[in-house]
Amino acid sequence: MDIEVKNQRDNLIGLSLQIKKYMWSKGVPYSTLYQNLYFKSSVSLSKKKQYSEAMKRALLEEVRKKTEQNKGVAEVSFFEEFKIRFYIISEWILEDWALRHNLEYLDYNINDPFSAEDCKINGVDIDVKTTIGLQRLKAIPFHSRTKDEKEIQVAVKSECFNTRNPHLTQHNILGIFDPSKYRDINIPLQYLQVFSRVKNACYFQPLEEYFDVLPDINDKIINYNQDVVDSWIKIDVLPTQRIHEVNYNLITIIFLMLDYPKKLTIFLKTHLPKIHHDFIPIVIELAAKKSIQLLPHYLADYLIKKIYNKEEIDQKSLVHIIYSVCFPNTSQRLYIENLFKLLEIIPEVCCKWHPEENIKDMELRYIEGDIPTFQVQCPQDPSKRTTIYTYSWKTYDVLFYKKNSQCKDDNCGGLTHEWFDYAEESKKYKTICKSTCNLSGREAFNKIQEEEIKEYQNKQKFQSLDDDVPF
Ligand SMILES: [Zn+2]
Ligand SMILES: [Zn+2]
Repeated sequence: MDIEVKNQRDNLIGLSLQIKKYMWSKGVPYSTLYQNLYFKSSVSLSKKKQYSEAMKRALLEEVRKKTEQNKGVAEVSFFEEFKIRFYIISEWILEDWALRHNLEYLDYNINDPFSAEDCKINGVDIDVKTTIGLQRLKAIPFHSRTKDEKEIQVAVKSECFNTRNPHLTQHNILGIFDPSKYRDINIPLQYLQVFSRVKNACYFQPLEEYFDVLPDINDKIINYNQDVVDSWIKIDVLPTQRIHEVNYNLITIIFLMLDYPKKLTIFLKTHLPKIHHDFIPIVIELAAKKSIQLLPHYLADYLIKKIYNKEEIDQKSLVHIIYSVCFPNTSQRLYIENLFKLLEIIPEVCCKWHPEENIKDMELRYIEGDIPTFQVQCPQDPSKRTTIYTYSWKTYDVLFYKKNSQCKDDNCGGLTHEWFDYAEESKKYKTICKSTCNLSGREAFNKIQEEEIKEYQNKQKFQSLDDDVPF
């Protein structure tokens, strides 16, 4: 082998190893996982104090409510207690992360538990957001009040897999959202807009890159022989199965081209099918503005646009090539892959009321909001809408047309799922439909629950009466 060619090959191997290390420094690409965190021994004294104060405030609030209603013993609910514990842990995790990376950290909650921002890292004011995942409750996306849309937020996904052991929890920093990072980018987001009350995992870019704590990759020579590049890409022929695996060869070669828009454009045009050439300007723009880490957000928005326009997509090539431009974290991949699934089922969709009407006859609707939803609208009666993709308001599970059953109520086009109610008075499966459904929505659910409680209390009363009968 030519010495020069050998040098170039060795260089690429070294660079690929560097990138691999850089991506997987914590076992999860570009994010930070705190597994099996034990509240009592992990969290700082200051945060423990804030926790007990927050619990005291919550209890006082309950006492006030009960006094107003003039009944019952006041206690902080199970869910509320988890909520308080999770937000305190999430704030502590961010502090721990900042200190481990030698960044300046200031906790605003020490002096003011109601401070609009929770902390400051290296001069950046941050609001920490957490989701509450308890057993089957998934609790993603992240919600903000309208006035907080412009805040810089860090998202932490918090979970407790076994609520009987509430002190052992798992947390994962998903990343940071900073609206100013989008200011200079000349391609607008259409569906997942920058300022939004609801944010999914794709809005949050890696903290490590945001605060520039990763080692520099300085090997950025570009004038490789075309032969070297070609053979390098072929070392690892694109797999046909397990397509979501990281391809370091591709990542390395694309990384080398990020500062060379012409080379990158040619490369992407060669490797992406024509139907996805419309994504190339987005990659080039993000690379030019040194914001390639925002790519998962733009990719999700792009997919929603494709869905909306009923356009075809080639999942394999998008995953191979676009994931190699900027590899999404686990939660982002879950979100993006759910959109892929939606794209796959769209051709099979038909109107709930008129099965002969297929997707060609119907208009697609996307409803942003607390529960992002896709529906198809009946061409005869626009009030008849068949839901094809949504989240459960009860568990935040993703629901799909065909995978989940349609509602039995003839007036409702919602998707349902079964949920086992472990409560003492219920102990049975319940059908959950969209929150506004008359048959299985939120109100109907609450009513059934109330009746069950009443019935259960009556049964107990009779039982105790029976017990009193003297023989
Ligand atoms: Zn119809
Ligand atoms: Zn329904």
